[in-house]
Amino acid sequence: MKEFHKILKYARPYTKSLIFAFLCLALTSLINLVLPLIVRNMINAVIVLKNNEMLDGLAWDLIIIIGLQAAFAVTHNYIFGFVGHRMTTDFRIEFFSHIQSLSLRFFQERRVGEILSRMSNDISVIQNALVTIPVALLRQSITLLGAMAIILYLNWKLTGLILLILPPLMIFARVFGRRLKVFSEKLQDQVAQALVVLEEVVSSIKIVKSFVREPYERDRFQEKIETAFERAVDKLKISAFFGPFILGLTFLVSALLIWYGGYQVMQGATTPGELAAFFLYALIIAGPIGTFVRLYTQIQEARGAIQRVYEILDTEPIIQNPENPVSLENITGSIQFKNVFFGYQDTVIHDVSFDVLSGQTVALVGPSGAGKSTLIKLLFRFFDPNSGAIHLDGHDIRTLDRKNFLSQIALVPQETLLFGGTVRENILYGKLDATQSELEEAAQKANAHEFITNMEKGYDTIVGEKGTKLSGGERQRIAIARAILKDPKILVLDEATSSLDNRSESLIQEALETLMAHRTTFIVAHRLSTIHKANQIIVLDKGRIVESGQHEDLMNHKGLYHSLYTMKMLDPAAQEELGL
Ligand code: ADP
Repeated sequence: MKEFHKILKYARPYTKSLIFAFLCLALTSLINLVLPLIVRNMINAVIVLKNNEMLDGLAWDLIIIIGLQAAFAVTHNYIFGFVGHRMTTDFRIEFFSHIQSLSLRFFQERRVGEILSRMSNDISVIQNALVTIPVALLRQSITLLGAMAIILYLNWKLTGLILLILPPLMIFARVFGRRLKVFSEKLQDQVAQALVVLEEVVSSIKIVKSFVREPYERDRFQEKIETAFERAVDKLKISAFFGPFILGLTFLVSALLIWYGGYQVMQGATTPGELAAFFLYALIIAGPIGTFVRLYTQIQEARGAIQRVYEILDTEPIIQNPENPVSLENITGSIQFKNVFFGYQDTVIHDVSFDVLSGQTVALVGPSGAGKSTLIKLLFRFFDPNSGAIHLDGHDIRTLDRKNFLSQIALVPQETLLFGGTVRENILYGKLDATQSELEEAAQKANAHEFITNMEKGYDTIVGEKGTKLSGGERQRIAIARAILKDPKILVLDEATSSLDNRSESLIQEALETLMAHRTTFIVAHRLSTIHKANQIIVLDKGRIVESGQHEDLMNHKGLYHSLYTMKMLDPAAQEELGL
C-alpha cells in the first residue's frame, strides 16, 4: 500500500476536518445499526404486546434518529467531497509544475496525449479512490462488525447460517478482482492511446486537412477507441455479473433464514420481532461484504493510477539548479564555449570551442543537421554538455542560478509561437509586470505598434491558437517586442529561412537591429545581410567547427563556407536578388 502512503501527504492540511468527518461517519453507521432494533421493538409492541404508548414512543425515537443520521451524513459527505476535490486540485497543480520542470528529453520520449491522460483520467481515478475508499472502508467495517456482534448476541444459531455466505464470496473476490484490475488497466492504456491520436490531430490540423487525411485519422482514432470499447466490455462482463451474484447469494441465505427462523418462532424459541430484526441485519451484512469485494478492485485500480502518475512525478528534472547557485549582477554578456562535447544518443557536437565578446554578433552557419540548433539548446541549458563547459562572464553556466541566468537571455524563434490570448499578453510574456508605456515603447522599437493599433481591438486583439490570425512578419515583430521588453544581455535569433515581402523584411531587419544593439547575439543565420554584418561566422559541419572568421576571410579560404555560398545554399532567395 505504499502507493497510498505517497498521496496521504495531500490530506495532511485537512486533518482536523477529516477527523470530524470520520466521527460523523462513524455515528451515521452506528445509527444504521440501531434501526433494526427499533423495528424489532415495534413489531413486538404491536404484534406481541399490543402496547400503544410504547409504539408512539418508538415512532418518535425513530424520527429523531433518522433526522440525526441525515445531518451527520450530509456533514461527512460534504467534508469528504470537499477535501477530495481540494487534494486533487493540489495534486494537479504539483503535477503541472513538475511537468514544466522536466527536461526536454522527457518531452521527446513522451506523447502529449499520454501526459494529458495521466493528468485527467488517472488523477480522476485517484480522486474517486481518495473519497470513496476510506469512507466505504470505515462505514462498512463498523456496519459489518457491529451487525455481526448484534446478531451473535441475538441468535447465534442463525448467525452460523449467515456465515455460510462468506467463503464463496471471498473466492469470488480474489478471482474476479484480479481480472478486473487487469482489464481496467488495459482500458486506461487504450483510452490514453486514443487521446494521443486526438492530440496529434488537433495540433496538426492544418497538415491533416491539407492532405485530406481526415478519414485516415478517423480510422486511426476508431481503431484505438474500439479496442478501448472491447476492453470496457471485458470489464463489464465481470462487473455486470457482480451485483446479481451477490444479490442471489443474499436471497438464498435469506430464504434459509426465513425458513429456519420461522420454525424457531413457531416453536417459541424466538419472537417475531427478533426474527424481523435478524432478517434486516442479514441484509445489512450482505452490503459490506459486497462492498469489500468491490473496494478490493477499486483499490487495485487506484494503485495502478497512482503508479502511472508517480512514474512521471518521480522523474527527476535532469537539469537541476546547482547546490550553491551564483546569481550574477550587471553581467557583460561574454560567452565562451570550451571544448564542448554533446550527444542526444550518439555524439553530435564534437570539441566545439569559441569566444564571443560582450556585445558582439556571432553567426552560426552550416548545412542542415550540422548542430546549430543543438548549440543553442546547450546555451539555454535545455541540455548540459557531456564534457567541456559553457561560460558566461567567466562562470560555468551550470554553477549559475538557472532563473537568474535565463533572465539574461532571450530567444526569438524562427517559427514564432504565440500563445492563444491577446497581443498584450503575448508581449508581456517577456516581462510580466511591465507598464503600458514600457509595453508600447517595446512595440514601437519592434515596428509593431502601428499594425497593432490599426487593429480594431489594438493590444487587446485575441491572436488565434499559435498566432494564426497574424501574418508571419507580424508574428515575428511581436516576438521581437517581447524580447525587447525582456531586455536581456544575450540574444538568440533563429532566423527564418523563408523570405518575406520586401516591406515586411525591412521592418523586421530594422527592429532586429534595434534589438541587437549592445547585446551579445547568436544567430542561426540564413540571410546574407545578417551573415555579412556578423563579427564572427562559425561554420559547422557534422557537429564540428570547420571554419570561423569573417566573410572575406572565409571566402578567401575556399572551404565549406565558400562552397555553401557559391552553391547558393546559404540564402537562395537573397542571392537571386543580388544576381549571384
Ligand atoms: P541544425 O540545427 O544545424 O540543422 P541540429 O542541431 O538540429 O542541426 O542537429 C544536429 C544533429 O543532432 C543531427 O544529426 C540531428 O539528427 C541530431 N538531433 C537533433 N535533435 C535531436 C534529438 N532531439 N534527438 C536526437 N538527435 C537529435
